[in-house]
Formats: sequence, C-alpha cells, structure tokens
Amino acid sequence: MPIPREVVAALVSVGTVFALAGTFFSPAAAPPPPETAPVASPPPSAEAEVQGVGRGEAAAATVRLLGEDGQVRVLALEEYVQGVLAAEMPASFQPAALEAQAVCARTYALSRAQSGAHAAQNADVCADPACCQGYLAQDPSGWGQDAPLYREKLRQAAQNTAGQVLRMDGQLIHAVFHASSQGATAPAQAVWGSAVPYLVSVPTPETPETVPQLESEAVFSPEEFRRRVLAAYPQADLSGPATGWLSGLERGDWGGVERVTVGGVTLTGGQLRSLLGLRSARFTPEVTDQALTFHVSGYGHGVGMSQYGAELLAREGADCPAILAHYYPGVTLEPM
Ligand SMILES: [Zn+2]
Repeated sequence: MPIPREVVAALVSVGTVFALAGTFFSPAAAPPPPETAPVASPPPSAEAEVQGVGRGEAAAATVRLLGEDGQVRVLALEEYVQGVLAAEMPASFQPAALEAQAVCARTYALSRAQSGAHAAQNADVCADPACCQGYLAQDPSGWGQDAPLYREKLRQAAQNTAGQVLRMDGQLIHAVFHASSQGATAPAQAVWGSAVPYLVSVPTPETPETVPQLESEAVFSPEEFRRRVLAAYPQADLSGPATGWLSGLERGDWGGVERVTVGGVTLTGGQLRSLLGLRSARFTPEVTDQALTFHVSGYGHGVGMSQYGAELLAREGADCPAILAHYYPGVTLEPM
C-alpha cells in the first residue's frame, strides 16, 4: 500500500499509556486515547503466521508476541486482542466501540504477521506502540475496583468479534485509527500523500461538549518557535517580526492544515504539528509579536476510525459493523 513505512513510523510514535481508562467523559477525565496508526506493510501472498481458519475456529488461532523484554510469547489471538484493547481504548467505552477496536486490533495483527514485520525475531507483532500496537498483559492500574467489570467487557468485545477482520478486495486493510477529530476525519492523502480508497474523509460526531480536551491550545514565544523551526529547517528565515513568519496556510475540506509556509519553507500541516507537538494538524495560528498561539482541535493524525467518534456513534445506537462501515467505507467485515 502506498503509505510509506517511514512516515507511518513517525506517526505511530506517540506512546500507549492507557492506565487511566475508566474516567472518560467524567469531569476528571483522563488523557484521551493516544494516537495510534497501526499501518502494516502490504500483505504478501505468503501464508499468514496467524493461522485463523474461520470464525468458528478463530479461538484456536495464536499470535507470537515479542515483548519489551525481548521474549516471544505465544498467545491465543483473542487473548492478545484483549490486551491490545486494554492498551488502546478506555474500557469504559461502549461495547460496540470496543468491538470495533477489537476488529482493528485483530486486522492489524494479522497484517503484521503476513508482512513478516517481526519474522527475524520469530514473532508476529511486538508490544511496542511505536512499532506495532500497544499490549497490556496486566490490568491498567487506573481500573481500580472496576477491573473485573472492565476485564469482562474486553473479553466480550474480543469474543463477540472473534475471528473477524476488515478486508477490501480480499486484502486486509490498514486499520488506522486516532483518538478524535472534529467535523470530519482526514483522508490518507492529506496526511501521508497517497490516497487509500477506504481512508477517506467522513463525518464524525465529536464536539467539545462530548469529548474531553477536544480543543486545545499551544503557545510559543517567538524565541521558542524559532528554536524549534531552525533545529529542523535551518534554511527558514525567521529574522523579522513573528507576525511575518507564517503565510500561505491551506486548509483541506476536512478542516486540517495541508500546507503552511514558515519563514519561506513550505511544510505540511503534519510536519508543523510534529515540530510543535500539537495534538493534531487541525489548527489555527494566531500570531502577535509576543506569542504564536495555535488553537487545535482533535487528537491524532485524523485518519481512519476516530475512537471517540466510535464511542459517540455507539451511544447513538450504532453497532460494531456500522461503526466500521462508517469510518472505513467500502470495506467488508469477514472471517479470517
Ligand atoms: Zn513491532
């Protein structure tokens, strides 16, 4: 598939720390889900390492997980999926949202196995969210007394979708997802430069009232902004007043910044986002001589399923297949 691996590697580098699940949508909300872009290399024609032979037999499938200690453990696939859910989505989310996430996790693991990403280590996937996808063997500490309830929810999400994966034209899809968007998701082309038929911009229901920290703000002094830009782009001319540094901002239909010129250097919205550590590329700059303020909405690269969007759709009654069909138009939910 056309998403360059090195680009993806940069985009998935936000860690997976989901120990605080359970308090979302409450006033004392935990941080939103991390950005995660589980994009695999193109599935080759070789046999998958994950040997799932059909929905009814999926429980027998296993996955070889390379742990952070360097050891490879063989897990039942659905047990692995539960550990990914614990790492990647608040267990307080609606069952249908958790099921959608389970399908994404399973699809991703299978595609990683097919691509041989960790073949050299005799593994299918690793537990490093900067490489593959997060995995928690133990209950997140933030679950507290709700741990038995949450553990059961994740078990049911895996079981209810056991063996189901997403495909288009017979190929496993790149089931990328992100925490939240506002208004619409981003098309892959705007973020990674190549169009992917099922990673197009679709409406998504998040609002500042329904998602904690959907809107954020990042403020930089002119000195700090200059330091960050010049470290990466020494050719940028930031010699004059700050009010003249940004120009040519182009916004895509989906609401995010696709291009902006900084001191004469044209960057993508994603590049400036990385440079400044903004929560998304959907930002509006406000520049004075004293400060550069970025008003940001959403969290993550914005492509594929929005986790908070999935949660809100589920609250409105959407089931798992409906959520997946919404965020990945044209794909089919099939047995492995
Ligand atoms: Zn990996």
